Amino acid sequence: MNKKRIVWGSILLGFPCVLLPVLLMGYLAWVLNLHAAQQRLETLAAVASSRASGTFNEAASALKTIAGSHLAPCTPESIDEMRLLTINTFSVKSVGYVEQEIYACGSWGPVGHHATPWPEDFTTTDGVRVSLGVQSRIVPAKPMMALQYAAFNVLVDPAQFLHVMLEEDMHLTVGTAAGQLVSASRPGAEHFLSRVHSGSHSALDGGYLYTLVHSGDWVAIAAISRHELMQGLVRREMLLLPIGGLLAGLLVLLIVRRTRQRLSPLAELKLAVRNREFVVHYQPIVSLSGGACVGAEALVRWQHPDGSMVCPDAFIPLAERSGLILPITDQVIDSVMRDLGPLLVKERSLRVAINLAARDVSSGRFLPGLEAALHKAGVQQNQIWLEATERGFLDIDAARTTVNHARELGYLAAIDDFGTGFSSLQHLQRLPLDVLKIDKSFVDNIEQDAATGSVTGHIIEMAKSLQLKIVAEGIETEAQRDYLRANGVHFGQGWLFGKAMPVEDFLRFQHARANVVSDHAALESTV
Ligand code: C2E
Ligand code: MG
Ligand code: MG
Repeated sequence: MNKKRIVWGSILLGFPCVLLPVLLMGYLAWVLNLHAAQQRLETLAAVASSRASGTFNEAASALKTIAGSHLAPCTPESIDEMRLLTINTFSVKSVGYVEQEIYACGSWGPVGHHATPWPEDFTTTDGVRVSLGVQSRIVPAKPMMALQYAAFNVLVDPAQFLHVMLEEDMHLTVGTAAGQLVSASRPGAEHFLSRVHSGSHSALDGGYLYTLVHSGDWVAIAAISRHELMQGLVRREMLLLPIGGLLAGLLVLLIVRRTRQRLSPLAELKLAVRNREFVVHYQPIVSLSGGACVGAEALVRWQHPDGSMVCPDAFIPLAERSGLILPITDQVIDSVMRDLGPLLVKERSLRVAINLAARDVSSGRFLPGLEAALHKAGVQQNQIWLEATERGFLDIDAARTTVNHARELGYLAAIDDFGTGFSSLQHLQRLPLDVLKIDKSFVDNIEQDAATGSVTGHIIEMAKSLQLKIVAEGIETEAQRDYLRANGVHFGQGWLFGKAMPVEDFLRFQHARANVVSDHAALESTV
């Protein structure tokens, strides 16, 4: 259940982690492309508008020069001067002199025919009259711009206004400050001249990104079509999308790593501790002489949220290595007091054995919590057996301190799985113990192996000589029970009497055993 949630959570997180970097890079490509295009347009429009001013000013200044000449108009000298001006002024195609609607002469020589006046489009502040789209005899196929001052005029090719380096994807349009078209590099973007009144600006509109720049009497519009903009975008995406893909891959890798960590046994166990997923089962401990249930051993189980039960052997070693055993011991103590507290208060002769890990024993850290739990439940210290295996007593000096302290408080100390380690005897000598639990392996072999059987006998004798209470673990047959009883073992634990069971079952078991024993005792007393 938890695993599923973690996996699904990771998958759900994976989607945005893949999509977001790719979308982000796509967006970045768009923004960068737009920004770069805007900058190119602004530069181009600024250069073009200042170029337009320059072109006009050059022509206007040539016009004023000839108008201010001291030579009499249309004399050979004056015509020469006009011709020289045309040659020397790049923007000026021709110079003319008109007197009372008669073209008297021009830079090409004396003329003398009638001239219809050109309609004026605007007049500059210094008095130059400007006419756009003028048809002239010099370049009949092409409308020209005419500048008139006094009786003189010059003709300028509007294409001169576009005389800048123009990249292939750009549209350039030059117009007057009033929005009249002067010249366009190619058709398409001229209609933006109608926006001339909104001042210099840049916008994405009507299928174009355009920038409009004012310079004196002139405006320049640089534009790029959506199609050309998209081509730039594709180029940038080709660069940025792989980075987005890489980023997405990196995030997915992180998610996979984190998911693995979260699915690791340790992470699962941590979560179990946090969610208090542990329950305690109780295995009856019976008196071998009378069969009465004298108590139980508390054996922890990990109950997954889906209800499945995990045995301690599968997680206690990891819990011990990781230190998680400490909170688990605390949770076991809490459960024992909650489950059996009332029964222990009612039946003061009943005992509960609680298993301790090496870290519990060496630190003694569990004791204050145990004391508080006992106090709260009203249970007495001598109703609790604290048991640890030899591994638990490995740091023997620290263990002795804890055992001494616990015994001073009234608890009983037991050595579990006795005989399975290398230094069982040393522990017996150096630790102040109350109970010895013979390991199941010695009980198993009672019937089959005479040698082990005799070792079991020796263990029993030794425990007796040390005045320890003896518990035999793992009794499965009556023969084992009979042997142990005959050899003076006090208590037994094993499937012959009952497996580790949930508290409700144990309470029923204990109740039934109490009745059997009292019936038996009543029968014996009447005999
Ligand atoms: P243990 O303390 O020696 O507990 C006895 C184990 O033998 C229990 O296994 C019990 O179910 C099993 N057993 C008892 N009688 C028989 C029998 O007749 N036949 C067979 N085949 N097995 C029998 P369990 O509950 O799996 O616990 C295993 C070990 O896990 C325990 O051995 C103990 O060392 C550890 N453990 C259990 N609960 C805790 C705990 O709360 N804290 C710590 N630190 N360790 C615990
Ligand atoms: Mg035990
Ligand atoms: Mg044991």
